Amino acid sequence: MNRPIVPKLVIVSPCYNEEAILAYSAERLTSLLRQLVQQAKIASESYILYVNDGSRDRTWELIEELHQRYEEVNGLCLAGNVGHQSAIMAGMLEAVEEADAVITIDADLQDDLAAIETMIDRYREGYDVVYGVKKTREADPWLKRTTALAFYRLQSAMGIRAVYNHADFRLLSQAALRALAAYPERNLYLRGLIAQLGFPATEVDDHISARVAGSSKYTVRKMLILAMDGITSFTTRPISWIIAMGFLSLLISVAMAVYVLVSYVEHRSVPGWASLMLSLWFIGSMLLFSLGVVGQYIGKIYMEVKARPRYHIAKQLKHHDRPTEH
Ligand code: UDP
Ligand code: MG
Repeated sequence: MNRPIVPKLVIVSPCYNEEAILAYSAERLTSLLRQLVQQAKIASESYILYVNDGSRDRTWELIEELHQRYEEVNGLCLAGNVGHQSAIMAGMLEAVEEADAVITIDADLQDDLAAIETMIDRYREGYDVVYGVKKTREADPWLKRTTALAFYRLQSAMGIRAVYNHADFRLLSQAALRALAAYPERNLYLRGLIAQLGFPATEVDDHISARVAGSSKYTVRKMLILAMDGITSFTTRPISWIIAMGFLSLLISVAMAVYVLVSYVEHRSVPGWASLMLSLWFIGSMLLFSLGVVGQYIGKIYMEVKARPRYHIAKQLKHHDRPTEH
């Protein structure tokens, strides 16, 4: 895989009702692009791709205007609101053929723009994935910050590989993008998928600032859905817990059996109690256990229907067109 030293960069930026910030965003991103082109760090055909995620305000009209005003601004208008993750994916897939590298950044530019140059430097050093990792997020509201950090911990406790304090500000090389494109799943949790790709990855510091204009488009509902996807798309561990609970209740049912039988022999029980207690615990544990076993199969079906690629090829050695000897 040949990597150009001066890559063609596409900056993908999802926008949902961002009319208040787009002009500011486009101005800053285009001047950054121009500066990087001047420094010969990126190719002059590099551009910004705004993805309108079914906004109900003037976002798309603004993107059209910005496309007229700046030759670096392109746009993609989705037919409806599909959510942050799918909007990013749409933009990346649109760019995959043309771009040597793609950087995704939220349209509100809360992330550290200075990190973009460092990301390019890392790409040029040979990395395929460069994560923007939040070092300071004082600008985020307290609730958002604490719940996010708690979520990252929960995720790693459940054995899900993901970069701590990294959201969706990152660079992907074309090779990494092509690998990502091979995941056909609908419930997207990009940072989880990207962590699975296996390509050489590194991190750069990201400092979060407050929104310059507009308000957060991530409602609590959208955040909860993302958090659920972040867990349920990557592990069937909760199903194994059901089996474990079945075993645990079986143990309890054995202890109960001893207690119930002793009480019965010592005539400390009313008629009917002993048989009821014995069957209650035993049936309960059997039910939990069977549920867990059925769950294991459902978990397997779930993993199969995702049809995730088994591996990605990083490098290949091959002799081409060897003359055949007679
Ligand atoms: N966004 C989107 N679709 C949605 C919600 C949000 O494309 O359904 C975009 C939004 O325009 C922004 C990015 O996703 O560019 C992150 O959203 P926001 O800044 O509101 O989230 P926060 O920074 O508050 O977590
Ligand atoms: Mg934001």
